[in-house]
Amino acid sequence: MRESIPPEARRKLVEVARGDAPADLLLENARLVNVRSGEIHDADIAIYEGRIAGFGAYQAAQTIDLHGAHVCPGLIDAHVHIESSMVSVPEFARAVVPRGTTAVVTDPHEIANVLGVPGIRYMLDSSEGLPLRVFAMASSCVPATHMETAGAKIEAADLAPLFEHPRVIGLAEVMNFPGVFLGVPEVLAKIAAAGDRPVDGHSPGLSGLPLNAYLAAGVGSDHECTRLEEAREKLRRGMHIFIREGTAARNLEELLPLVTPGNAANCSFCTDDRHPEDLLDEGHVDALVRMGIAEGLDPITAIQMATINTANYFGLRGLGMLAPGYRADMIVVDKLEVFQARMVFSEGRVVAEHGEYKGARPTPPAPPGSGVQVKWEAVDLAVTASGAAKARVIHAIPGQIVTGQSVEPMKVENGRAVADPDRDLLKIAVIERHQATGNVGVGFARGFGLKRGAIASTVAHDNHNIVVVGASDAEMMAAARAVSETGGGQAVVADGRVLAAVPLPIAGLMSDLPLEEVRDRVEAMGKAARELGGTLPDPLMTMTFLALAVIPELKITDRGLVDVNKFKPVPLFVP
Ligand code: FE
Ligand code: FE
Ligand code: FE
Repeated sequence: MRESIPPEARRKLVEVARGDAPADLLLENARLVNVRSGEIHDADIAIYEGRIAGFGAYQAAQTIDLHGAHVCPGLIDAHVHIESSMVSVPEFARAVVPRGTTAVVTDPHEIANVLGVPGIRYMLDSSEGLPLRVFAMASSCVPATHMETAGAKIEAADLAPLFEHPRVIGLAEVMNFPGVFLGVPEVLAKIAAAGDRPVDGHSPGLSGLPLNAYLAAGVGSDHECTRLEEAREKLRRGMHIFIREGTAARNLEELLPLVTPGNAANCSFCTDDRHPEDLLDEGHVDALVRMGIAEGLDPITAIQMATINTANYFGLRGLGMLAPGYRADMIVVDKLEVFQARMVFSEGRVVAEHGEYKGARPTPPAPPGSGVQVKWEAVDLAVTASGAAKARVIHAIPGQIVTGQSVEPMKVENGRAVADPDRDLLKIAVIERHQATGNVGVGFARGFGLKRGAIASTVAHDNHNIVVVGASDAEMMAAARAVSETGGGQAVVADGRVLAAVPLPIAGLMSDLPLEEVRDRVEAMGKAARELGGTLPDPLMTMTFLALAVIPELKITDRGLVDVNKFKPVPLFVP
């Protein structure tokens, strides 16, 4: 896709391409992974002013002999919430660029739920000048549902000014899929506001006529497929399928059999939410390419799913392939099967080599506002038992963002339903933290295994109130207070003492610390939780999705329990 560049720059590029002026750089003896023609061929690649001038015998100011190493386009993440890396945008870039990622399409809806449109602009501003191109989709569902309190509300009218930003390229995942297929005017107005820009979907399990209606509304992609048949149906109805391999949701293995030579062009890779330890240990989009190849996917197809397919879907001009006129965002890979980026170029400059970041590392600007406003005097976690004290219980499932549910008799003390750690029935609360409303939703959760203590987090998708799970009200309050005292964060508490914590002062979502330190602190929290009896591999992370009322089955917000299948609030106790 042609990109508009100033006429003088274009004239010079043409002159270099013609061979009448020297290039800046020539990569000699490359094996070009040509994602356009679907082949690998020899090429000498000339670069001028950040763009590919051409393939051939060029004069250049600098020459690098690649001795037959592969050159691929820089990788693109089709859908990511950068906030889930728990670090600032420059720090995220430092983590993913050495892995070969040169562009991401992000939905800043986590920070948008805390700080609104200024939060979105903050993410765009923090990504200025990085060797990582950060494109944003304008967040469509802030708050995610009408059954929760977020820090801001983004209406259709707020979207138009966002679309004026050169790096805001479409409408982000429309998670309110019932709102779409039921034709709720406000939801359809947001899709209309996107004009002819791409509109990302989010429709876990949606099928049949409601799926048709969702697509007829103008939605183009989906990243929530968890079953092969679901993905097949969505592809048949016209969706571009983002195959996701994140930290909490891992779908690649299940979905890969979907991809055939006939449909691969309509499939892409995305990470959605990837946590520090996975970014450091597994990698980013490169990890998906590696997994795909290991699962038997043709390497060129795997690379196409991480480059040109995504660029085509989003209409990213000048990106996603290497050809004359395109941006020289490239990676050098010695062995395709191993797929480790040895060198990473952004606009023809080496920005990482042997995993070491050489790019710009500006300090992020200060966030536009702080994160935690709680009316503590109104916060009471006690639950008066009603009827036969049979309550709905949320089941946390290891490695999943969906939950199970059951109805169980509660332990009652002095007329109050209390946590019963012996039966693995812990209390869960969501404390509103944006507007100091004093709202608290209280319920019960199974699957955490804590015998004592509590864990709390100001990351709580997507409203990011304070979510806390614990063995007693007092421990829960101590944990909730601990994370608010650091301007947001996560903590594991026992006997009123913080055992491990990570402060997240950027909107209560992101740390200003280096990724490695955040990873170490997250590990320490997991260890502390296990010492309290915790049985989940990553209890903090699982907990952060229990407030996400757009993912089935039973969830909790600051206004109480939500039956996501019915998309309705439900009472804690059943008669
Ligand atoms: Fe989603
Ligand atoms: Fe998402
Ligand atoms: Fe989220």
